[in-house]
Amino acid sequence: MVRSNYAATDKPNLIGMDRAELSAAFEQAGIPQKQLRMRVSQIWQWIYVRGLIDFSQMSNISKDLRAILAEHFTVSRPEIVEEQVSTDGTRKWLFRFPPRGAGKPVEVETVYIPEENRGTLCISSQVGCTLNCTFCHTGTQKLVRNLTAEEILMQLIVARDRLGDFAAVNAPAQKNSDNDGATRKVTNIVMMGMGEPLYNFENVKKALLIAIDGDGLALSRRRVTLSTSGVVPEIVRTGEEIGVMLAISLHATRDELRNELVPINKKYPLSELMDACRNYKGLSNARRITFEYVMLKGINDSLNDAKQLVSLLKGIPAKINLIPFNPWPGSGYECSDWEQIEKFSDFINQCGYASPIRTPRGRDILAACGQLKSESERLRIKERRALEKQGSSESENELQR
Ligand code: SAH
Ligand code: SF4
Repeated sequence: MVRSNYAATDKPNLIGMDRAELSAAFEQAGIPQKQLRMRVSQIWQWIYVRGLIDFSQMSNISKDLRAILAEHFTVSRPEIVEEQVSTDGTRKWLFRFPPRGAGKPVEVETVYIPEENRGTLCISSQVGCTLNCTFCHTGTQKLVRNLTAEEILMQLIVARDRLGDFAAVNAPAQKNSDNDGATRKVTNIVMMGMGEPLYNFENVKKALLIAIDGDGLALSRRRVTLSTSGVVPEIVRTGEEIGVMLAISLHATRDELRNELVPINKKYPLSELMDACRNYKGLSNARRITFEYVMLKGINDSLNDAKQLVSLLKGIPAKINLIPFNPWPGSGYECSDWEQIEKFSDFINQCGYASPIRTPRGRDILAACGQLKSESERLRIKERRALEKQGSSESENELQR
């Protein structure tokens, strides 16, 4: 368990502002207009390349100006309620963000998955979800609210803090490392945490454009993937305005079944979804769309389904990502048998598609797909009740922080 050493303040946070917003904010704080461009670019470097959380260390900025910045703004991080590390190296953070407007504080989960030659951060875009995909635990939670661009980006920034990515940039030996990601822990990000990113388009767009900005966090556009249940108009905008890789939560190849599993299909049926995919900007064999397909026993896992999947994707540069279903209490579904998943995968492979089976990671810390937040919330409630029974007021306070 990690207690945040970062103080919460009411000052606006510079993290999450784009260049135009930073410029306007600096002007309001009294920074002369002719300096704005230079100041924005200096601060951008300090906060996104060096990861500084303290204005006083910004050595190419005069003392007076540093004082003005500290008086008006902050770059502080959110509270980390919990940090867990799985036996397989997967990490999960539970962040608490302050209320926006009249609401309550919200808690959000972010997962880091280290692999041999990359490290992927799975980021949330909303607290809860308005959609009700029947196999997804997040879908049983009401939407609490959209995350702001600051909150979306903070998930990446704090992961970098905790994994030492900023420290690596700051180490003398790696100074001027050309931001190629070679020494970084977080090389990839996927918008596959809680929520439907395309129902929070503007904030997701702003955060991702900052994440891929070459003078700052500098993630490669091709290492950023946005996953959607199929919000067709915003798929088009994602290609045109953000230009990141796309993943589609397909899960079924017939409208009748997809209407049930992924109810947004009633609004944007498969024919429209496939058209949007076919026309996705920048699509090529080197930049394929990933189709996610959750393996549900007896529902969508027959060889006939595999056949239909291949014919549906004809003509679209695609990869297929088979996800073993992660069960949750009351879901009413079971994960397909391993043998069946392999048969399904082999068939698709023979038809020329890469079809990796996504190995569940971090199951012991409830970090696998579809297990986020709602599960840990449930556990914490359970723990809390157990403690209440014991009458342990000390521990109770600990849990209710
Ligand atoms: N809302 C977006 C992104 C978040 S979900 C979307 O639907 O694409 C990320 C992926 O996890 C989606 O493909 C989703 O369908 C899948 N998923 C949800 N619940 C799951 C579960 N219980 N087991 C396995 N995969 C699940
Ligand atoms: Fe929402 Fe995605 Fe879960 Fe569907 S699968 S309920 S869109 S988070």
